[in-house]
Amino acid sequence: MARRPVNPPAEGWSLTIPHRLWTELSAHLFPSGGGAVLLAGHAEGARGPRLLAYDLITATNDTDYIPGEYGHRALAPSFVRDAAVRARDESAAYLAVHAHGGLDRVRFSSVDTASHERGYPALRQITGQTVGGLVLTPHAAAGDLWLADGSRTPLAETVIPGGNLLRLRPCPATATPAGPDHDRQARLLGDVGQETLNRLRVAVVGLGGVGSILVEELARLGVGTLVLIDDDTIEATNLPRLVAAGKDDIGLLKTDLAARNAQRANPRIRLIPKATRVEHPEALKELALCDWIFLAADSASARHWVNATVQQFLIPAVQVGVKIPVDSAGYVGQIHTATRIMLPGDGCLWCNRLIDSTQLAIDMHPKAERDAARYVPGVPAPSVITLNTLAAAEALNHFVLAATGLHDDDHDHAAVIHRPRTRQRDLQDPRQDANCRWCTPAGRLGRGDSGSVVQTATL
Ligand SMILES: [Zn+2]
Ligand SMILES: [Zn+2]
Repeated sequence: MARRPVNPPAEGWSLTIPHRLWTELSAHLFPSGGGAVLLAGHAEGARGPRLLAYDLITATNDTDYIPGEYGHRALAPSFVRDAAVRARDESAAYLAVHAHGGLDRVRFSSVDTASHERGYPALRQITGQTVGGLVLTPHAAAGDLWLADGSRTPLAETVIPGGNLLRLRPCPATATPAGPDHDRQARLLGDVGQETLNRLRVAVVGLGGVGSILVEELARLGVGTLVLIDDDTIEATNLPRLVAAGKDDIGLLKTDLAARNAQRANPRIRLIPKATRVEHPEALKELALCDWIFLAADSASARHWVNATVQQFLIPAVQVGVKIPVDSAGYVGQIHTATRIMLPGDGCLWCNRLIDSTQLAIDMHPKAERDAARYVPGVPAPSVITLNTLAAAEALNHFVLAATGLHDDDHDHAAVIHRPRTRQRDLQDPRQDANCRWCTPAGRLGRGDSGSVVQTATL
């Protein structure tokens, strides 16, 4: 098959489809052709409004998808009515989907456009929400949106966060050649790949030993915008693990050190530092506008809030952690690093028992009470820069390859566990609880701004 085009993020309206829904939709549409409706939530994005697909209603051929009056197959009126009623009741956007032949380019036919003009004004009245059509090939997508305010607009891109972070457009993007700074890197990533990194907005939550390395490398890779979240200040015991930190930096905010390093690595970078805890509304607001999140903070609350953002706003993330078990007698257990890919619509951190609810309850208390409950004085956890580097490198390589479409398998998103003492590297597929209220269509998946993460966080 021809290599799929790599498209940098586009300005304008976008649609994000969780990769499992995309797989189901692709199987339904290609190669035989079929009809379906996507239901989608809504959120503001950094480059324009976002539609967040959370459920797929496939039309059964010959009963729901029938020969139309105008020489095309069309969704049956009863199917359209039932889907529109769901869209109205769930305050969701309604997007009718079909496929065309071809690969890299797609556009609506005149028959398609005429049917939109006949049908969508009435459908928009019924649902009171955005309605529209989406036409696909395996490598391209075009959309015609009829907005609730009465206007009409094309869809700029369709994003599928899976093992690769796919972006489909009506036709492949072209890019200007990467500058001399990134010439060597662009020889792997391509000019469009380099341009993709430049247009991405990436968050790093936790700017300690792992986060410090992530920021340095993301800035040097040429990522255009970094959101830096940590409320902590630098202590003497942090110095051996923080990039470019010196004695004079003791007492400095970790966000200030990270911003200084990122600026030095790439003077053109745009930085959004938030010296708050991640659950602060301002930090959550910035997170929800990102294209990718690195979770390098080890608290239960950071895990919970990033997990919620991934699922509710369909933003891919990677959780990076290092575990060094040493008991009071000095016995060293199985050291391991974990790099977990968090994809919307897939088994989340709650499903995989990676958030401790007791710890989370403690984290939600005021600082003095947290400190009293959590710390056993005199027993700080071990931390070593080489192990942080191992975990950070795994996460960064995944990010670069996914963002530029270079992973072999669009579906592979297993966690990578390194056990340096036995030199093992294991892959672990995430599990999903069918009733999870975060990562399933019946839960918060893709619900975006309809109920903020703050309001829905009953623990
Ligand atoms: Zn068509
Ligand atoms: Zn879940």
